[in-house]
Amino acid sequence: MPDKSEFDSPLFRTTLHQLDTVAARLNLDPNFHERLRYPRRALVVSVPIHMDDGRTEVYVGYRVHHNTALGPTKGGLRYHPDVSLGEVTALAMLMSWKCGLLGLPYGGAKGGIRCDPRSMSPGEIERLTRRYTSEIILFIGPDLDIPAPDLGTDEQVMAWVMDTYSMTQGKSVPGVVTGKPILIGGSAGRKEATGRGLVFILSRAASRLNQELKGKRVIVQGFGNVGAVAARLLWREGCTIVGVSDVTGGVYSPQGLDIRQLGIHAEESGGVAGFPGADPVAHTDFLELPCDVLIPAAVGSQIRGDNADRIKALIVAEGANGPTTPEADQILRERGVTVIPDILANGGGVVVSYFEWVQGLQYYFWRESEILSRLQEVMTRAFNRIWAVAQKEGTDLRTAALMAGIRRVAEAFRIRGLYP
Ligand code: GLU
Repeated sequence: MPDKSEFDSPLFRTTLHQLDTVAARLNLDPNFHERLRYPRRALVVSVPIHMDDGRTEVYVGYRVHHNTALGPTKGGLRYHPDVSLGEVTALAMLMSWKCGLLGLPYGGAKGGIRCDPRSMSPGEIERLTRRYTSEIILFIGPDLDIPAPDLGTDEQVMAWVMDTYSMTQGKSVPGVVTGKPILIGGSAGRKEATGRGLVFILSRAASRLNQELKGKRVIVQGFGNVGAVAARLLWREGCTIVGVSDVTGGVYSPQGLDIRQLGIHAEESGGVAGFPGADPVAHTDFLELPCDVLIPAAVGSQIRGDNADRIKALIVAEGANGPTTPEADQILRERGVTVIPDILANGGGVVVSYFEWVQGLQYYFWRESEILSRLQEVMTRAFNRIWAVAQKEGTDLRTAALMAGIRRVAEAFRIRGLYP
């Protein structure tokens, strides 16, 4: 078989392992299997920009389309120091399975720029975004590939992508990105959608396990778009949020943190560290704090073979993409921990992205209540199907979710046939 090692990365190895395991279970046609192991296309670009101090810095950016069998490709844009071709490819593959299992008419994609946005000024980030967009312009479009926010990017970055693309077309093209500000074609409820979907799926899982979410002790790793929203909603539902961490550090209080005050503190001081009344916790110890539910909502590969047996949680709901390595997955499975996999738990974001795209194409916008009920409908359908598959096949939820997602993409391959 030809060598394809350029996509190698720790996360890519994880996603390949997941695909290979599930392909064997599904008896997947080996020809489809081999095509699904690698992206359809991957673009690597240099992104030179003027820095505020007058220097020119050159960043490396990527946009990867994993699969286009189900429709145009969809997936976030990540600004982070760990971004690499292999990581972006793995994340694009996860988007294919995510869209497949949620029944969305999209293939998977992902983009990223290796940079540290926390050390850059808003002007530098704007120039980075605009130049990157112009470098990948032939790769994106409302019926080709539609970026969205991910780690390190937000609705302002999406507005710059949309504006840059639109300027080259001589007209406004809101459908080229999702996760935009509402004023320029964004959707009500998109910003909270990932956290909201996660809490919704978590409460479904709890009730299937004959448990109540209320009163559960929860720790949340990451206090960004996913973690902060999930923490706030769970806190409101009566959970005790005993620990929260972000890049600045971790904070712990067995009596529970006041999430509203924590939000204000993080806003003012740039992070959760130093929150009055809570104990500081080192990153290395954070995931092992006593709790019932763990929500990893930061970067990938956090729950590994070397710490999985010390995790106290009985339910892990993956807000991040790829937070658990295959070794850790096995340890957690053997210990009876219920892991709600990323492609299901954090799927609410891309579901409302889909609603935003549909609304934009029709120039007709729905009320937030309508968005919420449709989000619940899509998530409930996916959750019920996956839970049923897991019961029937005697598998964990990750395997069941991957089976549902991969099967759908493979079925689209079969129906479409191979060109030429
Ligand atoms: N970046 C998010 C994810 O990983 C959202 C993608 C999208 O909305 O297209 O699912």
